[in-house]
Amino acid sequence: MIRLEKRQVAVILSGLFFLDLFLGVSFFSPQIFSDGLPRVVFFDVGQGDAEMIEMPDGEGGFVRILIDGGRDRKIIDRLSEQTIPTPYIDVVIATHPDYDHYGGLLPLFDVYEAGVFAGNGVMVEKSTYKKLLATAEKKAKQSISLRAGDKIRYREERIDILMPDIQALRAKGTNEAGIVMLYTSGTGRRVLFTADIGKETEKRIIEKYPDLTVDILKVAHHGSRNSSAEVFVKKVAPKVAVIEVGKNNYGHPTSEVLELLASSDALIYRTDLHKTKRIVLDIKP
Ligand SMILES: [Zn+2]
Repeated sequence: MIRLEKRQVAVILSGLFFLDLFLGVSFFSPQIFSDGLPRVVFFDVGQGDAEMIEMPDGEGGFVRILIDGGRDRKIIDRLSEQTIPTPYIDVVIATHPDYDHYGGLLPLFDVYEAGVFAGNGVMVEKSTYKKLLATAEKKAKQSISLRAGDKIRYREERIDILMPDIQALRAKGTNEAGIVMLYTSGTGRRVLFTADIGKETEKRIIEKYPDLTVDILKVAHHGSRNSSAEVFVKKVAPKVAVIEVGKNNYGHPTSEVLELLASSDALIYRTDLHKTKRIVLDIKP
């Protein structure tokens, strides 16, 4: 478990869119109503993933958790558009060692320092990933690995690490071992971040957590047909589904996934079409 207290982090392991979206109340509400509320940001970084959780610190600021950084320097521009007051991010997470998720964290650490850097603990023979781990040792106060069962807590905010468990770590390829996080905001909203996991891991998540429903789902693997199992999407029943995707040769997002999300009545946001989205997590009615 990571406990975030103010700016001190203690670790216990076991396009530009400035109109905030609101869950529940109404979309495009004035900025004034978003003060002091937790929020999540889905960045347009091209073909790749980058998200941020912003947890209110009670003094008008936020404790920030960056999840992945896309493949290049775009994340630095996206973060500067968010007007983060100091070049410091409380927790930086690389969900798994695929370049479209961690590549941007290398230039990020030229500019930003971090309280904690967290990876999934999987070592790969990639010089850029090794360089990232070495850089994080210097630029973050602490480097850790996150596994299923770990938690991050700050005030009323809570993040449960659902994956990877041992089985996911043993699976073939890097995608299934990605860090999957369930963020439960102090306002009672739930956001599920699924990295690039495939259908088998999605199915195991709903077996392990049969009551899991969410307000927002970060759709796995950029809308690949190998992810977004129908049973999983119907079970977690997101109100909003976010697909992080850019120009690519993989056919992401696939029509199967788009049709499935549409049939499940989720509002669909795509970072290639709708650019960066910040969603305010207002109080669950
Ligand atoms: Zn990816």
